[in-house]
Amino acid sequence: MELGFYFLIGVAVLAAVLFAVLAVRAQRIKAQERPPHEAFRKEIDEQKAIRDFSMMLQKKTIWPRGEAPDLAQFDAFLPLLQSMYPRCFAAFETNIVNGYGILLRWKGKDGTKLPVVLMAHYDVVAADESKWTLPPFCGEEHAGYIWGRGAVDTKCIIAALLEASETLLAEGFAPERDLYFSFTNNEETGGDTTPAVVEWFRARGIRPWFVLDEGGAIVHAPAFGVKRDFAMVGVSEKGVIDAIVNVRGVPGHSSTPKDTDSTYRLIKVCNEIEHHQFEAHLSPATREMLQSIAGYASFSTRLVFANLWLFSPLVKLIMSQNPETNAMLRTTVALTKLRGSDVINVIPTTAQAGFSVRVAPWDNDEKVIKRLRSISGEHTEITSEYTVEPSPVSPTDNDAFALLSETVDDVYPRVKTVPYVMNGGTDSKHFTGICENVYRFGGFRFSDEERAAMHGNDEKLKTESFLDGIQFYLKLLINLNKGETPCN
Ligand SMILES: [Zn+2]
Repeated sequence: MELGFYFLIGVAVLAAVLFAVLAVRAQRIKAQERPPHEAFRKEIDEQKAIRDFSMMLQKKTIWPRGEAPDLAQFDAFLPLLQSMYPRCFAAFETNIVNGYGILLRWKGKDGTKLPVVLMAHYDVVAADESKWTLPPFCGEEHAGYIWGRGAVDTKCIIAALLEASETLLAEGFAPERDLYFSFTNNEETGGDTTPAVVEWFRARGIRPWFVLDEGGAIVHAPAFGVKRDFAMVGVSEKGVIDAIVNVRGVPGHSSTPKDTDSTYRLIKVCNEIEHHQFEAHLSPATREMLQSIAGYASFSTRLVFANLWLFSPLVKLIMSQNPETNAMLRTTVALTKLRGSDVINVIPTTAQAGFSVRVAPWDNDEKVIKRLRSISGEHTEITSEYTVEPSPVSPTDNDAFALLSETVDDVYPRVKTVPYVMNGGTDSKHFTGICENVYRFGGFRFSDEERAAMHGNDEKLKTESFLDGIQFYLKLLINLNKGETPCN
């Protein structure tokens, strides 16, 4: 009786201590706010900025996969930029890389300081005009939005960056360090221009301090019911494998089906792959993302996310329920292609499936194929047709990331910068070979609707978001000039 009593007391004390530890840790991730301040705003010629952006959107710069592009559209793009931003093109050194890659160098005052590369692409994906409200290449401003294919992905970056530069040049601004603007022509088809641009840097022995490309943006309420805006900065991106699964069967007639038919075996293999998800993992970047957002959430949410040593199984379980958060946890495998017989009454000797695999930063090609083979069993052959390894994770505890966070906060007060691993891909991955600080973020506020229309119908950007984006690039260029930043 007495022993039981002490036991209960012991358990109660332990529980109280545990709760105290959890609560103290939860308190530690509570968000620290910078003192309130006005948003940075500089006067710009808004009508001119919108007009120039609209002109860019009117160019049908589609670089199709496997087909010849309409080169007249691409030939016209650089002259258009030169006519709209005369100060920029008088000040910049213009390099053409791989035919249509536009690489601009804005020479800095101090040659010892490491350069910065700001990237975007001016090719766009095709658009099905019949499904759009306004023609996809009209570039019109309508009901508070600027419409057109490429408005979000990513002509907005080119327009905002050049407008910001043109404005600063008019005031006699000169950058401290070399700035490179790299606008490529075939990002959407994983083309060869950005690899050639990286070679251009490598051949000259130039290693950038940091690289900033498209990717994340300022989004509203990304998780946990936290009703605020966050600047999501991609610090890595997943790899890609196109895995081809060939399954052999025993030849036979369709009038006497059996379980050794290739098609029957293929369905079983596909089911097995579907049911054996890759292991969930909370990487340091994902933990940092979760804790940064949770800092603004309720006490109970913070209690969980501040104590992932205890709650990570629960968090993984919850994140697995939603496709977007599930993809942050693991390598994903999507069945995208199936091929059997061309004729309805013939059982093929071989049946084929294609899987689009998105490889998490902690996995690689070899591990993925090995695992798929172990799941699939005999009669099956698995090969990879196209492979891009996942990108290394760029640090968040350095001057470059701090400068980005500060610029976000200057222009968008109360918006916290948060790192994340991108499920999609960008051209910036090619720079990871010559630069360890590669970030993926466009300085705009994108709504869910705007993000969803990126490769879909009715792509458009709120005029206000476009104008705020110009302020972001203005402040970024200004901030790049101040303080002690890395030298050679
Ligand atoms: Zn893009």
